[in-house]
Amino acid sequence: MGVRVRPCGYAFHMKTRLSKSRFQRGLQCERALWLSVHEPALAAPVTESTQWVFDQGHEVGVLAQRLFPCGIEVAEGPRETEQALATTARLIADGATVLYEPAFTHDDVLVRVDILVWVGDGMWDLYEVKSGGRVKPENITDAAVQRYVLIGAGIPVRRTHIVHLDTSYVWEGGDYDVERLFTIEDVTGAVMRIAPGIPAEVARLRAVLAGAEPEVRPGDRCRKPYGCDFAEHCHGFLPQRHPVTALPRLSERAFHALLDLGVTSIRDIPEEFELLTPAQAGVVRAVKSGEPWVDADGLARALSRLEWPVRHLDFETVNPALPLWPGTRPYQAIPFQYSVHTHHEDGSLEHREYLHPGTGDPRRTLVAHLVEDLGSAGSIMHYSSFERTRIAELARDLPGLAGPLEAITDRLVDLEPIVRRHTLHPHTNGRTSIKHVLPAWCPDLSYEGLEIGDGTTASVRYLRGVRGELTPGERAELHAHLREYCKLDTLAMARLLDMLLQQAGE
Ligand code: SF4
Repeated sequence: MGVRVRPCGYAFHMKTRLSKSRFQRGLQCERALWLSVHEPALAAPVTESTQWVFDQGHEVGVLAQRLFPCGIEVAEGPRETEQALATTARLIADGATVLYEPAFTHDDVLVRVDILVWVGDGMWDLYEVKSGGRVKPENITDAAVQRYVLIGAGIPVRRTHIVHLDTSYVWEGGDYDVERLFTIEDVTGAVMRIAPGIPAEVARLRAVLAGAEPEVRPGDRCRKPYGCDFAEHCHGFLPQRHPVTALPRLSERAFHALLDLGVTSIRDIPEEFELLTPAQAGVVRAVKSGEPWVDADGLARALSRLEWPVRHLDFETVNPALPLWPGTRPYQAIPFQYSVHTHHEDGSLEHREYLHPGTGDPRRTLVAHLVEDLGSAGSIMHYSSFERTRIAELARDLPGLAGPLEAITDRLVDLEPIVRRHTLHPHTNGRTSIKHVLPAWCPDLSYEGLEIGDGTTASVRYLRGVRGELTPGERAELHAHLREYCKLDTLAMARLLDMLLQQAGE
């Protein structure tokens, strides 16, 4: 085995050994691989939402083992590599035919295989479990490096598969039907096509780890296929206000051309710079002028279609990987809370809300309250297509309530495209989400200081409550925070509408 001799030989060996996750990280960015091994403290801390994604992935992985029952788990953890390798070797020598999490090493690459199944004639089938809803290109490289290691370790692999969730599966209650919950895709062909290149990639990435920190420019790789946890470190050279990366949909080519010019702020982009879209060029003009732009006529036309009173509607949802309530699917977004501000033409506001108090399916009760709170007349304003899609799904899943839900749909008006088409505030850098637009146009209202300040956190915490992971006291406190957060979303929409009416001269 290629252990290089250095003063700290063993530690160096451990540091330079690749794993399938390090291999994957290195394919995304050499610098990310190097930093993860040599400067891990520079990584952003794992957030509550990211931890939730990890935990869900683990649950999905354990459930997928039921597809191949009676297997034996190699239970040693990530810090017990040598024991895991020894246990795996012993189990195979003893004739085990289904293994969960077996460990193998070859060419100084360590992999833990999700599921390995003996298929006779000295051959094994490999299964990599993913908690997503489809096979992605990065899953193929992941499976390919595992196959490379297994074959090198003397385990002949017949076929390679990706196991992922089937998002069309509707859970009927009781035990999950794992045959329908999961889809098994045979990716042997795709893996074989890239297999010849794997040894060279392994050698390249091992050389990266053994060398100095690679010089890599930030770019699309910082987000794809995974958000990089060193972004704050690598992007530290960008200004806090108006960084060029804030321009919506800035191409990598344009970003690197700006860096070649020494330009990191939107304010400094030269007028003659040709690689921006017309929309991006408009943002640059707005930022440089420092003045908001408003298309008053277009705005007036769009707002003249509103029928008063206007109800501002916002949902909070959960979308667990594994369905929590019968009649729902993997990753289906289920509304558990809404806020409605009724906005009268004289500017006065009334507030209504619903937050499902129990741990059961919130949909039926929520819709009953929603129909009542939205009344039967007036426009219903929402921000982005999210609420419209949820209402269509509720009508599909609750046929008895489809009529009132379709009546709600007929009254919906999306405020986001109105803001996007007819206004541009320099503080937003062209972003149109309400989290960017609100502080720009209504700086006295802010999400800062709220215990819950984004929809993902709201969702994760509500799910923890539903799953019994919070005490009654913690749950009561959480619900108070959730009400505060959701209420601010619709209050923000009401304030934005007031501001837009003013700008339109109404
Ligand atoms: S932030 Fe970008 S450049 Fe930096 S390590 Fe991550 S992917 Fe590489």
